Amino acid sequence: MYKVQWTEDLRNNLKKYDDFSKKFLEYVNNEPLFINQSLRDLEELKNKLRMETHDEEEKIFLQIILGTDAHKYLLKLKYLNEDFLRDYIDVTQNYKNLIDGSWSIPTDYQPPIDLKDTFTYFYTNLIKSKKFNEKFLSTTAIEIENLRRHMTLKSTCPYCDIYRFEFDLSSVDHFVPKAKYPLLSIFPINLVVACTACNDRIKKENIHFPIVHPYFDNVVENFYFEYSEDDKMLNINFPSSLSAIDKKKTENFLELFEIEDRYKENYKDVYDDLIDDIQGRVLAGLRMVKKRDIRDIEIEFIEDSVEEILNESIESTQKVRSIKGLTKVKLDLLEQISNSEVKNLSNYLYVEINNKQIRSTSNVI
Ligand SMILES: [Zn+2]
Repeated sequence: MYKVQWTEDLRNNLKKYDDFSKKFLEYVNNEPLFINQSLRDLEELKNKLRMETHDEEEKIFLQIILGTDAHKYLLKLKYLNEDFLRDYIDVTQNYKNLIDGSWSIPTDYQPPIDLKDTFTYFYTNLIKSKKFNEKFLSTTAIEIENLRRHMTLKSTCPYCDIYRFEFDLSSVDHFVPKAKYPLLSIFPINLVVACTACNDRIKKENIHFPIVHPYFDNVVENFYFEYSEDDKMLNINFPSSLSAIDKKKTENFLELFEIEDRYKENYKDVYDDLIDDIQGRVLAGLRMVKKRDIRDIEIEFIEDSVEEILNESIESTQKVRSIKGLTKVKLDLLEQISNSEVKNLSNYLYVEINNKQIRSTSNVI
């Protein structure tokens, strides 16, 4: 829910995946000049590798292609006679427009199966292969695994703000589904690290555009949780200042990740817990007051304590945004605790303290 910030380093590191896709599709279009689909095509590639010793980059690329299964896909795509490089540039340059709903591919478009297979291979296999990492990224590690810690919030899911990450379990997945847009399979800005619950929802391919995106938008600003005393439910509402387009984008986001239902089902006690916590802390503070003074405590003093604890709770929750889960819902509810609720709470505590006072006095007697 909170916007994920990308550093320049991360941007540069991830750009290499984009570079690889472009280079690969350039090869599909241009090199080598195959004549027919046969084993001789592979020989041509090998010859090319022997010849291209003057260009280090070219050599590295060919070593990866020939050292992995990538060459099989290259040879397959070649014979489809389609300009996938143009399509790739088209879809990646229009990525933001796709998210905004101002650009799309025709709804009846079915990507060729070989294209799907190629980019699925890139995502599931190639970018995790030793060859690719060593040659292209100059690392002995699997770079995408290292990067995922930086491709998300500190530790909560950027979609739901519910789950804290175990980085071993969290996965790098696609925002726009790769089934419909295979060319976006290793396009950096389309890769998002999220909790498995949210990733499963995205896989359902229910995505509707326009939609907010964790790298572009801070969706927490576009809506708020509201607690209704009547039905003891959490609901979602939108600020009246929100533009129609941002509202639509936010609604599509909330719907895709089933945010309202998930919170309604599992977190309806958040409000009561917050109130209990404030009460507990106010009472703990009052216990510090010397016994002889507690008789003189006035309701205004309790009200001030409640206000103080409430502000402290807001401040401390703000500090752990994107680190601890559920901070969005807590902050929204804390900020909605109205003056009349502060009064009610204070009255309740006042009575509570006086009852205790009476009890302890009668005990003494
Ligand atoms: Zn999630």
